[in-house]
Amino acid sequence: MFTNFLEFVREIYQTEGSVPLHEPKFIGNEKVYLNECIDSTFVSSVGKFVDLLEEKISDYTGSKYAIAICNGTSALHTSLLLANVNPGDEVITQPLTFVATCSAIVYCNAKPVFVDVDRDTMGLSPKGLKSFLEKNAEVKSGKCVNKISGNIIKACIPMHTFGHPCRIDEIASICQEYSIELVEDAAESLGSFYNNQHTGRFGKFGVLSFNGNKIVTAGGGGCIITDDENMARKAKHLTTTAKVPHPWEYSHDMIGFNYRMPNINAALILAQLENLDKFLLEKRKLAEIYKNFFSENDIQFVEEIKNSKSNYWLQTIILENREERDKFLQVTNENGIMTRPIWKLMNKLDMFKECQAESLINSEWLEDRVVNIPSSVR
Ligand SMILES: *Cc1c(COP(=O)(O)O)cnc(C)c1O
Repeated sequence: MFTNFLEFVREIYQTEGSVPLHEPKFIGNEKVYLNECIDSTFVSSVGKFVDLLEEKISDYTGSKYAIAICNGTSALHTSLLLANVNPGDEVITQPLTFVATCSAIVYCNAKPVFVDVDRDTMGLSPKGLKSFLEKNAEVKSGKCVNKISGNIIKACIPMHTFGHPCRIDEIASICQEYSIELVEDAAESLGSFYNNQHTGRFGKFGVLSFNGNKIVTAGGGGCIITDDENMARKAKHLTTTAKVPHPWEYSHDMIGFNYRMPNINAALILAQLENLDKFLLEKRKLAEIYKNFFSENDIQFVEEIKNSKSNYWLQTIILENREERDKFLQVTNENGIMTRPIWKLMNKLDMFKECQAESLINSEWLEDRVVNIPSSVR
């Protein structure tokens, strides 16, 4: 099968050479907007592209407000601060995620708590979340308290892994029941919907990323989406050095961050977004092609769950066991077909070893088996 796969991928991408995992595609107005941005001299902290981007993202996702940020990690950090995550608080998330989700929690001097994922979505399991809370938490005067640690569980960050929506409606209602703020890490899921609602729109904040490897890129960039006007205003303020608006005076009313997105990055992403629908279509086609190939070869290809529409950002397969996985990774990478395993579980990293974790059976099962295969738009 493995040698078949090498041939198959080369045929898909029409090349005899190597195939990357995911490369950006600049086939639209990228150079036009970048030139316009440079000619205007407004490449940095202000400019029309930032405003246009925020408008476009809120139109596309259906969120009332969008705040452009320098990257997804900073957008997560800002969202958690605005969700009032204080030092000593706890934030529930999944161990199967990119490290930024957990880093953002620690930036707030809060602690991650790990709850298992579902096998089919690879995202936070509502069943796992519910049973964790039933066992470990109680709501006292409107606050969710962890009975084991005595700390407040302030927020929950589910993540839509590789663009596949998790069961976010169930997660949202559990969070509501336990007075936990929901912050969605939708960094990988621009263009993914659950029940026809864009991912990132089910809690108070949703976070997008426009990093170089994501479905569309600003070089680096991120965005917070929210329906809360007050929070949107605060997010803008906090991420633009907390400068008090004034035509010439420099005054700041709190310690803010320099987390704004430069205008030149906004110019690039705007052009990219004009092709998002095309990219989504192509990713879906690619998924169909892979699905057929892998079903013939008796290998599980990961698909979107019912009621959801995935952006199929990174195409994903599940191999038999760790041994098979390692063999597959070796054969493919040695032959120039780039593939990679899913992340090492967060609770196994030194920084998060001491964090509370509930039975992570599915996460561990997936960790041994999941591999991403070449996913670039052709
Ligand atoms: C990419 C990513 C981020 C961080 O985004 P950056 O823009 O790279 O800072 C956060 N969480 C997840 C799950 C990601 O994949």
